[in-house]
Amino acid sequence: MIPEPAWRRALDLIGKADEIALACHVSPDGDALGSMLATGSVLRAQGKRVVASFGDRQFDVPRLLRFLPGQDLLVPPADFPAEPELMITFDSSTPDRLGLLGPNTAKAHEVIVVDHHLSNTGFGTLSLIDPHVAATAVLAEQLIYRLGGSLDRDIATCLYAGLVTDTGSFRHASTTPEVHQMAARLVATGLRTDEIARELWDRSPFGYLKVLAAALERASLEDGLIWTYVPRVDRAAYGLPYTELEGLIDIVRRTDEAEVAVVLKEDDQGAWQASSRSKGAVDVGAICAVLGGGGHHNAAGFTSHLSVEDTIAAFRALLPSRDGEA
Ligand code: 5GP
Ligand code: MN
Repeated sequence: MIPEPAWRRALDLIGKADEIALACHVSPDGDALGSMLATGSVLRAQGKRVVASFGDRQFDVPRLLRFLPGQDLLVPPADFPAEPELMITFDSSTPDRLGLLGPNTAKAHEVIVVDHHLSNTGFGTLSLIDPHVAATAVLAEQLIYRLGGSLDRDIATCLYAGLVTDTGSFRHASTTPEVHQMAARLVATGLRTDEIARELWDRSPFGYLKVLAAALERASLEDGLIWTYVPRVDRAAYGLPYTELEGLIDIVRRTDEAEVAVVLKEDDQGAWQASSRSKGAVDVGAICAVLGGGGHHNAAGFTSHLSVEDTIAAFRALLPSRDGEA
């Protein structure tokens, strides 16, 4: 629970600011971008000057999130105010996760951090952080409610994208009664759950099938760990952007024989972006934190500049041994 005085201070800071600069984590997912755009749309409707961005070197909204309303708020990181009067960050546990916009948090006069990561370092001047909620979108909805903003269908679409993304379509353990109640409020605005689901999960360019086939062919199952990798040349052959690979981990992790899944995706700069998932006791968030990344107990990631083999070896070395000893 976020204490009432924190909410009051957030409303006070927002009330006093003329221009508000919003940022979410790099390679944004539905929760990061959806929470930011929903909040930004409400603030703009209330007469604020609003810009929103994320700090990727190559500033592209992932294709599967292009249906989200409110993208006219977006500016590339180069146009983001260097010293914002008020900055609000979404779904980012550290300034690092903001990429190019990380340094702006140090220069902003005030920074409100809206997040649900347990590992959040509390880098803002005000924390609206609750690790018990399923998505940052839950906190964005509360902020919008407290701002007196109304949930129209466009804003609800953004929040819903966050809620379904982070709960894995209401499958993860984080799917509480409150999550379904929030979903009911959002769906009641008339949003199209079928269209959102198709945009998020049920479409890809043809090249994805080919890249997926190669990744599955390469998969290794070793001692309860399933892992595979996608070099950038595979994507290049089909002109497939990096962001199209987001769903790959969800296919790999279904392997019955594995407790933990890892997918290494080579980005356009040649770094390996690791996605990891755990089915239970193994805390991949803690493992990824040791490797310079972070995340949640069951879903986490990190960036590696080592080879594929060395990256997997480093990850494996941090896994508890299967007979239960650390
Ligand atoms: P995904 O595998 O879907 O990219 O990320 C899963 C979760 O891991 C995200 O919700 C995010 O919290 C976290 N995560 C992924 N990559 C990183 C990273 O490089 N650093 C940190 N701190 N967290 C990450
Ligand atoms: Mn999230």
